[in-house]
Amino acid sequence: AWAAWMCHLRLLKKAGHSIRKFLQVKDDVRFHSLTVVGAVRFGSPLLCSRAPPLLQNIRVVLVNTSHPGNIGGAARAMKNMGLSRLVLVEPRLFPHHEADARASGAGDILENAQVVATLEDALVGCNLVLGTSARDRRIPWPLLDPRECGTKVVEEAGQGAEIALVFGREDSGLTNEELQRCHYHVHIPSDPEFSSLNLGAAVQVLSYEVRMSWLAAQGQPSKVEKDEVASTKSGELATMDELERFYEHLEQTLVAIEFLDPEKPRHLMARLRRLYGRSSVSRAEMNILRGILTETQKAARGELLKRK
Ligand code: SAH
Repeated sequence: AWAAWMCHLRLLKKAGHSIRKFLQVKDDVRFHSLTVVGAVRFGSPLLCSRAPPLLQNIRVVLVNTSHPGNIGGAARAMKNMGLSRLVLVEPRLFPHHEADARASGAGDILENAQVVATLEDALVGCNLVLGTSARDRRIPWPLLDPRECGTKVVEEAGQGAEIALVFGREDSGLTNEELQRCHYHVHIPSDPEFSSLNLGAAVQVLSYEVRMSWLAAQGQPSKVEKDEVASTKSGELATMDELERFYEHLEQTLVAIEFLDPEKPRHLMARLRRLYGRSSVSRAEMNILRGILTETQKAARGELLKRK
């Protein structure tokens, strides 16, 4: 794919277009032609439409969807609201004619959808992850309603954060473990007697709130401009994959110093995930934490005593 892409660029050059010139074509045509080529060649959902840049930072992740029709419904809901990046974690049937039928005019979202094996793969590069749930779970977690979710997503995306909205299985939703990978949970305040929405409908509600918040933000100075002393910019935040490596390191260290008993973990890692998830840890801060863990492991092995 890479060779084909390079060849494509070379051909353009040969034809007397410098790449710069190619980019100078009318704004949205430029965006479309470049990104469509990139998306098709790389099979990536990351750059695939004319969606406004801010909304392109948002990916919708569907975990283990059973009914292909729901994947199509979700794609349509997304496209109606200007979202374009769909990631499917092990869908049962995809591609599928029912998905195409329900997507209606949103077939491009399906064509560019990225299919991955695990939720972890779906979240690579993300700074902010919001997981949706139709009901309460055992460990209380920072909870947003769809409107607060829309506001948060647009604020963070505007600062360059990569964001995932994660949706669960039709029959059983997201597992506790999956929910614990999320910084926030989002619950659509449905009737508790009948709380579970159709998957596509849930995607619609959240996408709509993102759009409303995005429309409201148009023409307004961004939060970064308003707040010059903003602390960590989201683009500098540790990504989900970096956080995952940190949690592994943390767990190993806690076992080494016998703070964590693998036989009786008592939700310790979940609680720590919640703590760090709330803290907007920057990449630089993550390096400090990793450094502390490395030295702690050495101390646990007695290496520091030997050094003295
Ligand atoms: N029986 C499942 C419901 C799954 S519905 C359960 O108890 O969790 C399929 C998906 O749609 C959910 O995983 C969630 O992503 C979304 N969803 C449905 N209803 C929702 C609600 N009220 N709030 C937030 N998300 C909801």
